[in-house]
Amino acid sequence: MTHTKDHPKHMEAFLIHGEDVTPRWDYSHHVVPPMTASVIYRVGSVERGAKGFAQFGDYDAMTEEPIYIYERIDEPTTGMLEDRLAEAERGEVGIAFSTGMAAISALTCALTRAGDHIISNDSIYGCTYSLFTNWMPKRGVGVTFAHLNGADITSLVRPTTRLVYFETPVNPTLELIDIEAVCKEVAKINEKRGEDEKVLVIVDNTFASPFCQRPIEFGVDFVVASLTKHLSGFGTDMGGVVIGPKKFFRDIMLYRKDFGGVLSGRHAWPFLVYGLPSLATRLRQTMSTAGKLAAFLAQHPKVEKVLYPGLETHPQYELARKQMRSYDGSFAPSSILYFVLKGSPKEARSKGAKLMDWLAEHALSYTLAVSLGHCKTLIEHPSSMTHSAISPEDQIRAGIDPGGVRVACGLEEPEMLIEEMGRGLEKI
Ligand SMILES: *Cc1c(COP(=O)(O)O)cnc(C)c1O
Repeated sequence: MTHTKDHPKHMEAFLIHGEDVTPRWDYSHHVVPPMTASVIYRVGSVERGAKGFAQFGDYDAMTEEPIYIYERIDEPTTGMLEDRLAEAERGEVGIAFSTGMAAISALTCALTRAGDHIISNDSIYGCTYSLFTNWMPKRGVGVTFAHLNGADITSLVRPTTRLVYFETPVNPTLELIDIEAVCKEVAKINEKRGEDEKVLVIVDNTFASPFCQRPIEFGVDFVVASLTKHLSGFGTDMGGVVIGPKKFFRDIMLYRKDFGGVLSGRHAWPFLVYGLPSLATRLRQTMSTAGKLAAFLAQHPKVEKVLYPGLETHPQYELARKQMRSYDGSFAPSSILYFVLKGSPKEARSKGAKLMDWLAEHALSYTLAVSLGHCKTLIEHPSSMTHSAISPEDQIRAGIDPGGVRVACGLEEPEMLIEEMGRGLEKI
């Protein structure tokens, strides 16, 4: 490019333009990737611009020789995060979104159209439940909710069924669903179906994170996840991701482009720089803490039951040992536990509220708040908080106890968490 340096207004133009290529700015030599913040890209020539538009949706072209045009279409920092997340989940391609819900709604909408049918587990994240009950019917898509743990999926499937959707561990009950068993049953159903009629299995892997569980290795087609939780780690950033086969890349990218829930480069950056590199260390620590806190609660006289996949008393402990494994194969039951206090449902509920209120006011190591995967231990009441979109009758049917308490362990010393929990239990 030739600059007109002798123009009297050159410097003013320079302040706006700078120099587009300088030896100071070589991407590949960054130890920490740059936080790119350009919405638009210089395409150089009309021909190159046309080529950029033409390559949209072609994964190989977009990643091997990308022609960036506009941030909502594709972006290098976000692209780096997508590649790393796909690798972490052992999937083919990753597509990042502004939030977990943007990812979940994009995936489930891109894969369905009016007349289609979805089978979903009966206990799922509150907003996903709202998506399936408020918005899917408006799009002409029917959703059947069933208790998928041990369910006969073959009897629930219709000719129009396109998706089987669930979370495991189930939020908040920490019940598990056998990923491999579901995939095997669906594979059998798919034997009789044409390529475009196959039932696809989606797992929301937010609770476990890829460090603890990789559903794609058990045969799942897609993983969706909120990056806001374990992958952020510090409660400072929102994001979501879809990971799945290259075959569906174009459809999901098209949906993201047109509905616009993209993750910007600046917002991809913290996941790339802080969240992912600290994931294993944080989870190893919080898992160990969750194990100790769960063991303490399990022997406490005021506690009716504790559900934590890492406890031998968990009804599906064997399944937990099978499907929740870190990359080196060690048992990785994640760091969220759920417990119910003794008494009738009404008593348990009021005691649970009392305990949480006491901890919120007096304990340093517990924070009464929704979410999980934070460096601070978060405690909450699912029945009146995260799962309030589900009616009380449906909550009970889905195993959500009115008096259940969810704890998402943070990085505090476990001794302090146990001591403060013990004092809180004394007060109720
Ligand atoms: C938080 C959460 C979501 C939604 O993610 P956002 O980033 O808040 O949109 C979806 N599924 C599960 C299991 C979650 O915990």
